Amino acid sequence: MKILKIDHIGIAVKSLAESSKLYELLGIKSTGTEEVAEQKVKVAFFPVGDSEVELLESTAPDGPIARYIEKNGEGMQHLALRVDDLEAALAELKAKGVRLIDEKPRYGAGGARIAFVHPKSTGGILLELSERK
Ligand code: ZN
Repeated sequence: MKILKIDHIGIAVKSLAESSKLYELLGIKSTGTEEVAEQKVKVAFFPVGDSEVELLESTAPDGPIARYIEKNGEGMQHLALRVDDLEAALAELKAKGVRLIDEKPRYGAGGARIAFVHPKSTGGILLELSERK
């Protein structure tokens, strides 16, 4: 497994429009918004150097981001690390006894392939592994 960089930091927000204002104020332009139906979210990415900030707004009251905000309020929701080979990373982590949420890659915003590692195995952090070709 090879970790390439911090891909992005995911922040759960109630409103993309409201929360985007901070980044616009900082002079960071969004690369656009996308709806990921499977995860019931609308996301916007703000490039910061070689990484990005991902804002996530729920599109349904029972979506994972809505539930996250209900429990924790708005704020940092996950850390995403870029890997060179997602299948290999998942197999290696599984073999090492790390608890995975996704044993197989799923679709992520921007055409990435992603998988989540369970916070029980990471000291409380929801960790996303992301692969982009
Ligand atoms: Zn993410």
